[in-house]
Amino acid sequence: MGKLFGTDGVRGVVGESLTPELALRLGRAIGAYFGKGARVLVGRDVRAGGAMIECALTAGLLAEGVRVYSAGLLPTPALQYGVKSLGFDGGVMITASHNPPEYNGVKVIAADGIEIPREDEKIIEDYYFRGVSSSLPWREYAYNPQVRADVLETYINAIVDMVDSDLIRRAGLKVVVDCANSVGSLATPEVLRRLGVKALTLNCNLNPEFPGREPEPTVESLRVAAETVKIYGADFGVGHDGDADRAIVITDEGEVIWGDRSGTLLTEFSAEEWRELPRRTYTGVSSSILVEQYLNPLGIKVVWTPVGSVVISRMIQRDGGAISGFEENGGYMHVPHHIVRDGAMTTALMAYMLAKERGSLSEKVKKLPRYYPIKTKIPMNRERALCAVEAVKKYYSGYRQVTIDGVKVIGDDFWVLVRPSGTEPVLRIMLEARSKEKAEKLLEEVKRAIDESCGPRR
Ligand code: MG
Repeated sequence: MGKLFGTDGVRGVVGESLTPELALRLGRAIGAYFGKGARVLVGRDVRAGGAMIECALTAGLLAEGVRVYSAGLLPTPALQYGVKSLGFDGGVMITASHNPPEYNGVKVIAADGIEIPREDEKIIEDYYFRGVSSSLPWREYAYNPQVRADVLETYINAIVDMVDSDLIRRAGLKVVVDCANSVGSLATPEVLRRLGVKALTLNCNLNPEFPGREPEPTVESLRVAAETVKIYGADFGVGHDGDADRAIVITDEGEVIWGDRSGTLLTEFSAEEWRELPRRTYTGVSSSILVEQYLNPLGIKVVWTPVGSVVISRMIQRDGGAISGFEENGGYMHVPHHIVRDGAMTTALMAYMLAKERGSLSEKVKKLPRYYPIKTKIPMNRERALCAVEAVKKYYSGYRQVTIDGVKVIGDDFWVLVRPSGTEPVLRIMLEARSKEKAEKLLEEVKRAIDESCGPRR
């Protein structure tokens, strides 16, 4: 049986591996999965090919008797919130999230507003490869897709209602928002406006060529945003990915902080604000060990999970709730709002925390244990990536290892995670040590161990 889904949906280069023919067939498979008569909400980000994929996919859904509703351009978490709160049977989001501009993709959302579980992806793959084709009586082809223009507004209102907007307004905050030229532009600036926050926007014009920066928020891609935070004298900055389910935060001093840092602070704050929530949080193995070091003494339990937000969402749901779930890549789930990553919600929550607790974000970050992080990826095929994981296991066999996803090696004052990407042919390496020099030395050591075991890089 072939495979369609990666870590987070179906992805491919538009016009190459992601064609209208594929989208049509995938639409039929998704339609068969939801079933005849199901009400399914479809939305997309700004990417090239979005309209083409939506049309072909919609044709496939209609052919299976699905009632299609089009939400148009919007962030993934807005579509997810719409599916959950407006009573749809499911959703489809056309996006390639943080991938380079030439990519597009499809995420399938269950009736609860969370991406469908892995087992259900297999059902859709099965329908896809077997090539389902229901034939309906001719009258049942008479249905016309409906436009739902209220989804985005419903979502924005829910976020504004989740926080104390009067308190935030009184704090007079200034924020820089970098929307990556995609659908974050449609939500976050408006949320901030309604909260009385002065928002300076960067790359908040829609443009499928992503002229401002690559769709993945990184230290590199947020360089202009970070400088702007300092020039503007902002309280913080935020950078979204292509579908705005992620928010990477920048401190008032212009430091880009990874999602495990901001997630740790937001979890501490939310534990006080929403005291009814079970005192635990879920985070991927790609997060720093500082999460545990900081939150455990506060009586907040940290549950380590495999990488991939869907796994985190489903684990929180299975275990009956949590304060939060988050990943180092900037995906933060505010559970009282929805158990999915949400860039605009995260931004509003950050504003709420700073308005309520006073003090600068940079001071708060300095309370966390200090580690110097390096995140990098090396292009390689899956076979070599798997070899690399084994090589690292062997090289660091004397250390504590977590092997729920790739391998994470944990020392007293450092950690390394090596794992094959689920969305691209690359090996992801993340590591932290107490200083920049030690981190760089560690990266060289890891690369050497891989080369020695798997042969020189090709
Ligand atoms: Mg995303």
